[in-house]
Amino acid sequence: MNLDDIRKQMANCECGHAHDFDLEGLEISSGAINRVSEILKKYNFPTRILMVADENSFRVTKGLYEQLLDNGFTVELRVYESMRVADMREVRELEVALKRVDGLLSVGTGSINDICRLSSFRADKPLAIVATAPSMDGFASDSAPITENNFKISYFCRQPKIIIADTAILAKAPVELKAAGFGDVMAKYIGIADWRVANLLHGDYYCERVAQFVRDAIARMVALADKVVIDNEETAGAIMETLVLTGISMQLAKCTRPASGTEHIVSHFWECKKLVEGKISDYHGKKVGVATLITAEIYYKLLELDSVTAKKEVLDWTEIENAYGKELIDEVKKLNLPDTIVNEIDPALIEEKWDEIKQIIRDEIPSPQRLYELYRIAGAATTGEEIAVNPDLYDLGIQYHVYMRRRVTIMRLLPMLGIRAIDVYKQTQK
Ligand SMILES: [Zn+2]
Ligand SMILES: [Zn+2]
Repeated sequence: MNLDDIRKQMANCECGHAHDFDLEGLEISSGAINRVSEILKKYNFPTRILMVADENSFRVTKGLYEQLLDNGFTVELRVYESMRVADMREVRELEVALKRVDGLLSVGTGSINDICRLSSFRADKPLAIVATAPSMDGFASDSAPITENNFKISYFCRQPKIIIADTAILAKAPVELKAAGFGDVMAKYIGIADWRVANLLHGDYYCERVAQFVRDAIARMVALADKVVIDNEETAGAIMETLVLTGISMQLAKCTRPASGTEHIVSHFWECKKLVEGKISDYHGKKVGVATLITAEIYYKLLELDSVTAKKEVLDWTEIENAYGKELIDEVKKLNLPDTIVNEIDPALIEEKWDEIKQIIRDEIPSPQRLYELYRIAGAATTGEEIAVNPDLYDLGIQYHVYMRRRVTIMRLLPMLGIRAIDVYKQTQK
């Protein structure tokens, strides 16, 4: 993958936006781990750095720390025990440490990358990533989901300057992590559909060229579905490339729309509710993958409606408070008061555009049967049980997630149509 080619492909876009991204260096190759110092220097990365890892990522990149020291880097090392939640506490801790150095090297995936992305942005220090597993698409993303007081918010960041991944390390990553990466890419089917509908009904910015860029990336991942489960360097490298591409798409569009729709919000709901109980959630891409199947089931069921009747949304706060609990309800109120985002949409417009909305679902999202088949081949999770979400929480997420993000999605319209998402979902499970 050539970053300059992507820049050329995105130049002079008819949408009127200048599509660009910060990522300067991308190295996905066998043995890349042995050349990290060399690659950092090639892109003029500072030599006085903070290196952040967790015990696992530090172990699988054995020798990296010594290699950096041997090559003239001054390295302050921070190795977390294990990191399954990216919390604001760690972001603040790293911000303080970053005052003593000129750059941040994040070694790992998921939460490690998230805290590094936000802290380096806030401290205004460049970030480089050594990726250890192709488990999610956050590597090249310019936003970081961070938890504070058990509530998860996506913060704007800058993209890393450099991403390095050794395909030998990626290939050895557990199948569960690679399948999670696959799930995170499948979510883009929903993301694009929701994005187009938000554009259609709410006038949200949309770019067809970026959408097509993401569709191409999804197609590459689908072609590799049967190879996700095998230990193969070439495949692991290709999965990683796909994940980097979808991450770049968010910066091209200057929003997370091309990479995340209502399914990401469902997953965030489960995660926040579990955090309140002190429980750690399963991998991001694994949960998001399951939520993608749920969403596809519901959206396909909506296709059976020839027409809809829409009216202004009136929220039942008692019901919503029961679902979120006292720990989370204040944040939810902030997002929906004094008025909800869908009350900016004329109900008559939804009725009028219903056929177009259905066409978008058909155009963008494969049938649930097709998705189940792909997940089976890729070894990806398909049930609440596999992601340790109990049936009650599973259902609550389906029905109430829409209120925890101020964003128009197809799912977000259902209360205006007098349709309960959970009832529709239950019908599909008979
Ligand atoms: Zn454009
Ligand atoms: Zn994601």
